Amino acid sequence: MVTKLGAPNQEPLTSSAAASDTPGAPPAPGPAIDIRGLEHRYGELAALAGIDLAVPAGEVVGIVGPSGCGKSTLLEIVAGLREQSEGTVAIGVPRTAPDRLPACALMPQRDLLLPWLSALDNAALAPRIAGARRDRARERAQPLFERLGLAGFESARPGELSGGMRQRVAFLRTLMAGKPVLLLDEPFASLDAITRAQMQSWLAGVLADDAHTVLLVTHDVEEALYLSDRVAVMTPRPGRIAATLEVPSPRAPDRAAAVTSPRFGDLRQRALKLLAGGAS
Ligand code: ADP
Ligand code: MG
Repeated sequence: MVTKLGAPNQEPLTSSAAASDTPGAPPAPGPAIDIRGLEHRYGELAALAGIDLAVPAGEVVGIVGPSGCGKSTLLEIVAGLREQSEGTVAIGVPRTAPDRLPACALMPQRDLLLPWLSALDNAALAPRIAGARRDRARERAQPLFERLGLAGFESARPGELSGGMRQRVAFLRTLMAGKPVLLLDEPFASLDAITRAQMQSWLAGVLADDAHTVLLVTHDVEEALYLSDRVAVMTPRPGRIAATLEVPSPRAPDRAAAVTSPRFGDLRQRALKLLAGGAS
């Protein structure tokens, strides 16, 4: 995927983008994220303390951690919705919050669909805001509707959809923003187990077809381990990264076989032990 990023005076993107400058090299799958020494305080409350985290270009890093440890805060900072109290955030190059905004698509924890728009028009909001004509924006959203099992619900208002369907429309809207960096905050949290497993396989397929650099926050250890190249486990607030687990072969086409393998089971045990406050 070709990166369309940033202000004209910015340096070229890091490592993988540099590689794509080589004649004949494949295009970079998006910029790398590099977070160093990041701290965030809300007044007196220390939300995040000393976060160092790198997401190589085109990879998925999962983040799991207890409620209130600062996961949403971290995504909002990377997205450029907040400026951190300390530390640096690079998306390709170090950027202040306003310069991070155009690089990232954030799927917030609450779906924030516009209640007066149809599901199709909600999904097609990003190209519309970018100036696309309504029919063109709808044409782009329509095939993805079918892939997400939403066909037939194009003209439904969000209030007429189930929670799971709303989340899928919200995910589509995030994807349709066409940004190289996806920041997903518990994207499948309110889905039932079967639909969630289907959505995970679907997302694995989407990322295989069209690589993005992804930060995936989830409270579901299995989801994180299935979808991510590595998983960062956070401590309770103020959030730090207790350990990062490497996942050997993420996003396997046969999800059921992958998540029941002994190696996956070992990783799950390590993650759960870390979450419970133990060593890895
Ligand atoms: P998580 O997503 O891991 O549940 P959050 O990032 O939402 O955690 O919150 C981390 C901590 O910061 C919590 O204690 C929460 O109450 C606090 N917090 C979050 N947003 C704000 C805000 N806008 N103002 C003040 N405190 C906040
Ligand atoms: Mg949260």
